[in-house]
Amino acid sequence: AIRISKVSKKYGDYPVLKDINAQVARGEVVVICGPSGSGKSTLIRTINRLEEINSGSISFDGQNIHAPMKTRELNHLRSRIGFVFQSFNLFPHLSVVDNVSMSPVRVKGVARDVAHDQALRLLDRVGLADKANAFPGQLSGGQQQRVAIARALAMEPPVMLFDEPTSALDPEMVGEVLAVMKSLAADGMTMLCVTHEMGFARDVADRIWFIDAGQIIETATPEEFFTSPRHPRAQRFLADLR
Ligand code: ATP
Ligand code: MG
Repeated sequence: AIRISKVSKKYGDYPVLKDINAQVARGEVVVICGPSGSGKSTLIRTINRLEEINSGSISFDGQNIHAPMKTRELNHLRSRIGFVFQSFNLFPHLSVVDNVSMSPVRVKGVARDVAHDQALRLLDRVGLADKANAFPGQLSGGQQQRVAIARALAMEPPVMLFDEPTSALDPEMVGEVLAVMKSLAADGMTMLCVTHEMGFARDVADRIWFIDAGQIIETATPEEFFTSPRHPRAQRFLADLR
């Protein structure tokens, strides 16, 4: 589904991504891990073009994501790639159900009542059917993040990107968000997740990409990665977690 070829990017003189080559197959769950500042967020953000690249290419179902395109085309492309951030960025003045139904109405032209019904189904799926009429400020962090996931799903994207979706949460709320992500994975969603939740990586990932200093220095199955990481840097990373 996603093909990253020879991607490099600099911030000024600083090379943040160096010759990245990687692929994500349809239905695959990839967990991206690596030290702070290694380029994980930058990489994942290039995939829906929140960041530009300096060279190389990224394609999604055959479409070149970084080709010149009109704003409308870019918005269409972005609507097909769901993105969930560390900060949930819900609209505080809109009810939960309106947060979820807004984009389908505005961007896809879905009828309001249809989008509303779909939003209620998605809220049920993330365990928040009873919060449809609440406002974001009345929810816990974990509940807000589940709304953010429902909002992304409302666009029916074939791919979902997650950038540390549980890092801003109190520990007791991490599990409920991971459970939603786990159920998405079980339903066959193609997912790329930057996360430090190694339990999730071990249980849910099909592949782990380990990034260090702007390069993917190891890709492995969770089994391989956690029992016998090949690269010394990955070995040290795992040792530091324990
Ligand atoms: P973390 O685990 O802390 O989230 P990360 O692996 O996601 O780190 P990035 O956010 O991709 O890392 O940043 C990689 C490097 O690029 C860091 O050294 C960071 O300081 C730098 N960087 C990130 N964004 C910018 C920017 N907009 N301008 C300049 N440098 C940046
Ligand atoms: Mg980051």
